[in-house]
Amino acid sequence: MSINCNSVKMTDKNGDLNFINQAPTQWRDIPKKSIVYAPKEETIFLSGGLTLLQDKLVEAALTSMGIRFTALPNPDFKSFQTGKAFGNRGQCNPTYFTVGNLVKYLQNLRDEQGLSSKEIVRKYVYITAGGCGPCRFGMYITEYKKALRDAGFDGFRLTSFEHDKGIFQGDEIKESLLNFSPSFFITLIKAVIIGDIINILGYKMRPYELENGKTDKALESCKEIISKAFLKHSSLVKAMWQCRNILSQVKLNRLQPKAKVIVMGEFWAAMTEGDGNYNLHRFLEAEGAECIPQPILNRLMLSLWEAEQTLFKKELLAVENGKRVDFSNLKSKLMIKAAKAAVKTHFTLYAKAIGLHNYEIPDMDKLADLAKSYYTLECSGGEGHLEVAHLIESVKHNLAHLVISIKPFGCMPSSAVSDGVQSLVTARYPQANFLSIETSGEGAANFYSRVQMALFKAKQSAKEEYEILEIPEYIPKKIHNYLYQPKNEKAGSAATLIASL
Ligand code: SF4
Repeated sequence: MSINCNSVKMTDKNGDLNFINQAPTQWRDIPKKSIVYAPKEETIFLSGGLTLLQDKLVEAALTSMGIRFTALPNPDFKSFQTGKAFGNRGQCNPTYFTVGNLVKYLQNLRDEQGLSSKEIVRKYVYITAGGCGPCRFGMYITEYKKALRDAGFDGFRLTSFEHDKGIFQGDEIKESLLNFSPSFFITLIKAVIIGDIINILGYKMRPYELENGKTDKALESCKEIISKAFLKHSSLVKAMWQCRNILSQVKLNRLQPKAKVIVMGEFWAAMTEGDGNYNLHRFLEAEGAECIPQPILNRLMLSLWEAEQTLFKKELLAVENGKRVDFSNLKSKLMIKAAKAAVKTHFTLYAKAIGLHNYEIPDMDKLADLAKSYYTLECSGGEGHLEVAHLIESVKHNLAHLVISIKPFGCMPSSAVSDGVQSLVTARYPQANFLSIETSGEGAANFYSRVQMALFKAKQSAKEEYEILEIPEYIPKKIHNYLYQPKNEKAGSAATLIASL
C-alpha cells in the first residue's frame, strides 16, 4: 500500500446524515445550467486505469493522432477514499477507485493548479469503458456523473466504449469532438497489445534478475522507445526489436525454483498495479514468487467471443421461428472476424520482434468448453465463465503452483464465481491450490496473511518439482537468457528449463 494509507483522512462530508431530513428528489442526468464547452482544439481528454505501462503507451498513441490526451495517475488509496466520499453507498470497489481517481485529479487541477471548476468542466472530457449486464459496470457512467456533480464539477463530460455496440458517445459529446474511426481503435489496440507483451516479459524476468531494479529500468527504456515510435509514426516492430536488445542486457539467474502464481479474477482488480489490489503482484514477487498476470488481451478476446455468440444466437432464433437468416448480421460477423485476425496478427508480430515466444493467445472456444458444465456461458457479467475456465486449465495443464482470484469488495459476478462455482471445481480437482481473496480497499494485513499461507504450499510444490529433477553437469548459457522459453509439462520456470535440457 502507498504511504498515503496512513495519512488519508475522511472528508468532512463523509458521515454527513443531513440527507435524512431532505425530501427525495428525482435523479437527473443533465447538468442544472447549460454549459458552453470548449472547441475541439482546446479539449483535453483524460483516461486511465490500465497497467502503468499501458496508460503511458495509450497516451503516446493518442497524442500521435493529434488528440490532446493525458493518462491519469495510478488510482491509489486516496482515490478510493475520494470515491467513497462522493459515490453512492454499496458500490463495488473498482468504482470507488476509478471514480475517485478522476475526482481527485480534477480537485488537484482546481486546488493545486488554480484552474476554476468552470474551466475544468469546459475543457476536459473523460473516456471510460461502459456496458450493461448483470453487474455495476452498467452504472459506472451515472456513478461518475453523480460523484462529479457532488464534487463541484456538474456537467463534466464523459464518453464511453461499449464492446458489443462498437462505440457510442456520451450524450454531451458532439460527434466531431473525437473521431472514433477504425484507425483510432487500431492505434489504441496496438498500444494495449504492446503493453501486454512487455508486461508479460517483465513478470517473467523480474523475479530472476541478478541486480535489483535492472528489469524495471530496462522496461522503462522500452516504454520510452515505444512511446517515441508512436509519436514519430515510425515502425513499432523495429522499436520492439530495439527493446529486445535492451532486455537481453538484464542478467538473470533463472534456475531458482520459485512458486508460479496465476493472478486472475475481476478484470480491474486483477490487472491494476497499486492499492486497488494491495500491490499484489509486487507483494508476490517480494515473497519469492513469479506472477502470471492477466493481459488485457484476454478481456478483449472474451468481448469478441461474447459478441460472436450473441450473433450466433440471433441467427438460431430466426431459424427456429421459421424466418430467413438475417443477413444484416453478416457484416457484424465479418467485422468480428477481422478484429480477431487483426489482434492476432499484431500480437504475433510484436511478440516475435521482442522475443516473447511461448505465449499463446487464449482460445476462447476451448476455454468455454472447459467451463460450460460449471458455469452458464450466457451469464456474461464480469469475466463470465473465464475465471472457472482458467482454474480448470491451470490444473489440467499444470500451469502454476497457485491460482489467486481477486474479487473486489461488492463485486457481484466475481464473488458468485469464487464463493460458489469454484468450490465445486476445487472439489472435483482437489490438486488445485486455489485462493479466492477479496480486496476491500482496507484490511491489507488480513489480505497479505491469507496470500502468504497459500503461497507457503505453492513454494513447497515448486521446490519439490525442481528437486526431483536430475540437474545436468553442464548448464548451457542460454538457460539464463529470457529468449530461451521452452515448454513442457512442468509448472515452475526453473523446472521447465532443466527438463528441457
Ligand atoms: S465485475 Fe464486479 S467489480 Fe467489476 S464492475 Fe462488475 S460488479 Fe463491479
